[in-house]
Amino acid sequence: MGQTTTSLSSNKENSEGQQQTSASTENDFQFLIGRLENLPDSARKLFNLGKQYLTTGSKNRDSGGNDFSSLFQPYLPLHTDGDISTEDINSTLRETGTGMLDTPLRKSAPLHHFQTYIQWKAAQDLNNFYSLCLPKRHTIYLQPINTFPEFVHSYRLKNQSLELNLFETVQAFLQVFFCGLEVLLLPPVMLDNTKQEVRSRVHPVMESQQLCINDLYPFLQRLLPPNGLCIMGISWTDIYPEGHNFVLGEASVQHQAAAISFGRFEFSRFDAATHRDVVEINGAILWKLLKSSSHELCHLLGLQHCTFFQCAMNESSSVPEAMEQPLFLCPVCLRKLQRACGFDVLERYVLLRKFLTGVADQVSDEAKVQECLVWLDQCISYLNS
Ligand SMILES: [Zn+2]
Ligand SMILES: [Zn+2]
Repeated sequence: MGQTTTSLSSNKENSEGQQQTSASTENDFQFLIGRLENLPDSARKLFNLGKQYLTTGSKNRDSGGNDFSSLFQPYLPLHTDGDISTEDINSTLRETGTGMLDTPLRKSAPLHHFQTYIQWKAAQDLNNFYSLCLPKRHTIYLQPINTFPEFVHSYRLKNQSLELNLFETVQAFLQVFFCGLEVLLLPPVMLDNTKQEVRSRVHPVMESQQLCINDLYPFLQRLLPPNGLCIMGISWTDIYPEGHNFVLGEASVQHQAAAISFGRFEFSRFDAATHRDVVEINGAILWKLLKSSSHELCHLLGLQHCTFFQCAMNESSSVPEAMEQPLFLCPVCLRKLQRACGFDVLERYVLLRKFLTGVADQVSDEAKVQECLVWLDQCISYLNS
């Protein structure tokens, strides 16, 4: 296969002056986020903020004098050792040479090696073309699998006038995160061990039961109602992909199915003497459910891992790393989700703030929820300014 010549760095090398540079920058931006003319002012404002970051780097953010530098940060994997200063990040970015987009894209690979909005949209348009004859599907289904401990059943989130059980809490959050689509909860389903539809094993070290996610995909796909866009299983029992130890959640676009589990006690190094199972639903467990469910469902809407900003769609190599990542999407990923769901960006942030304010009252042990609210306040005030 021949070397492609469409990289952004070659655009830069061929530049014939400032005018062409600006035109290239505009094209690069459209490739990343698409055209914005038909969007409301607030959405354009947010996506243009992404443009400012992507095209001028960290030096020139927000010409209006406001500092919104904390809204979006360039992507750096969190498993890097030690604290990293902004200067370190910038010098790394300069050294890696990323062409026109010199701040967030720290890798030297061309832009089209990562999933831009235009690439995502092309894949979605193709999918939509093949499903033209099928009924319109707007519903995400949540499917609890097997049994759960009593404290899971008895959990209640008192949110304003509502009282929600654990699965209803996840449903209510996803209804806001994916607003524009419908999110419905199916009654729990029990796996029939005699049919051996889903392989299970006992983990050799932890000695706990695990379900094979590769078998869960077709199992869940068969449960997807005809109007279902996709389905996500929620399991207390550990899940594992073939040939691997454990996974917090995973999605199969081919099956339009995903699964997450939340019963595993998190440990940095397993010690049989001190190991115990999760014994209560606290803020950390709730956070894990919100994080993993929204991430996996975004995969089912065609979003791949994000390498542009710190983002809910960053890849993670461990559960603690996944839990550290943002709950919210960067401008590039948000543009994809906005197109998939058809929501108003500002309205969705307001709804997210309302939901998380209700959660924050209940999970004072979870600082990440408070951080989300600070971020939402800052973002909403920026979009309203
Ligand atoms: Zn992922
Ligand atoms: Zn992203």
